[in-house]
Amino acid sequence: MSIQPNYLVVGAGVAGIAAARALQARGLPCVVLEAKDRIGGRAYTDATGFDHGASWLHQANDNPLTVFAEAFGFETVDHDKLRQRLLFTEGRFGTTAERQAFAAAEDHFWRVIEAAAADGAPDRPASDAAPGGGRFDALVAHCEGAQICAAELSRMSLHDFAATALDGPNLLLRRGLGTLVSTLAEGLPIRLNAPVAQLDWSGNHVEASGAFGRVRARAAIITVSTGVLAQGGITFTPDLPAEKQAAIKALPLGLLNKLAFPMPPGVLPEFGPLASLRRDIAAAGDRPISWIARPFGAPMMLAFIGGSLAWKLSRAGKQATEAHARAEFARIFGAEAAVALGPPIISDWGGDPHFLGSYSHAKPGGQAARRVLAEPLADGRLIFAGEACHARFAGTVAGAWLSGDAAAQLIMS
Ligand SMILES: Cc1cc2nc3c(=O)[nH]c(=O)nc-3n(C[C@H](O)[C@H](O)[C@H](O)COP(=O)(O)OP(=O)(O)OC[C@H]3O[C@@H](n4cnc5c(N)ncnc54)[C@H](O)[C@@H]3O)c2cc1C
Repeated sequence: MSIQPNYLVVGAGVAGIAAARALQARGLPCVVLEAKDRIGGRAYTDATGFDHGASWLHQANDNPLTVFAEAFGFETVDHDKLRQRLLFTEGRFGTTAERQAFAAAEDHFWRVIEAAAADGAPDRPASDAAPGGGRFDALVAHCEGAQICAAELSRMSLHDFAATALDGPNLLLRRGLGTLVSTLAEGLPIRLNAPVAQLDWSGNHVEASGAFGRVRARAAIITVSTGVLAQGGITFTPDLPAEKQAAIKALPLGLLNKLAFPMPPGVLPEFGPLASLRRDIAAAGDRPISWIARPFGAPMMLAFIGGSLAWKLSRAGKQATEAHARAEFARIFGAEAAVALGPPIISDWGGDPHFLGSYSHAKPGGQAARRVLAEPLADGRLIFAGEACHARFAGTVAGAWLSGDAAAQLIMS
């Protein structure tokens, strides 16, 4: 392949799709080069309907993808309104009062974090500001860090953590968020199985090359993850400026992996659809995983493993990941119930060379990195986009979409 479109987009995830749609809407010739044999990147629904990556439209009233879900007739549910919130503590299911105490600890956590982020003091690890000493404080910190942001609070910039915190509504799509994203890619000029190995931006053009051949364009939008960029997944000629490299390093990916276990009838009779379950921290160093039962009523149990435990299990392999999740399930429901679960589908975003993690957080002191990464290079000939580049909706499909669209508007201006 040797082609010369006006614009080149690297990566057919949410950001690349948004960028290509914006360019196409203006009638500008572009090509999207995608390393994998599928589109969607970290928003991917498989044939069983399981979202391996993104599944919620967070802060749905401000989320740019909500309007598309409505326009394309995707059935959505407001997860916060629907779900039972179950808590397993001290070897039993928590009482209503304990669940309320946990919810109050969550509210308190956010009040303290917001106040700390607004106090004008220099940036510091989010863990330094998190409340401690209360019965559920350690569990809240674990949930808000490893289980939601895919990294422990100690690894994250307080200012970035507070600036990227999102509200509800949190919508789930029956047909899957990945399905919506692939619908949005229909008709776009995407070349699959085309991993870009080198990107030359030394002249008046940009030239991408790899086993697929060469593509020369007037400008390029690069949407690969900061995990891929940090590992040198694309060689840039000339090297990226030092401040860009520092921004990439300041925005590592955390890891959240998911398992979908088939669950035979009768294992969890009392739970409603999409009930969420959290196990309390039993001792220092304990890192519980969390669960969602019966997605849309399907006989499934979804497990979520985040943060340093997810990295450890990713390195140990899928068998170890499954064994760990079953042992956790047995801890709550008993060994017999754990054996009854079917073989799971397992996502491993950490071991996939096209992602090398799940989504970005800023390291302590790195709160400006998202803005720095998004700044265009070479008079707009080379622009980075993707979830890591959005200062408000970072780590989400909303941030990826807005950043990809903004990058396209920039190169067209
Ligand atoms: C388990 C998990 C759960 C999540 N849950 C949610 C959620 O509920 N809600 C939410 O909003 N977000 C969630 N996210 C985050 C969301 O999925 C991402 O923020 C978003 O999809 C990132 O999109 P992107 O376009 O920035 O990057 P990507 O999706 O990573 O797209 C980049 C593309 O570049 C391709 N690529 C890589 N290297 C090359 C190369 N050398 N050449 C060409 N192409 C290349 C990749 O294959 C990929 O398709 C979740 C993510 C994960 C992993």
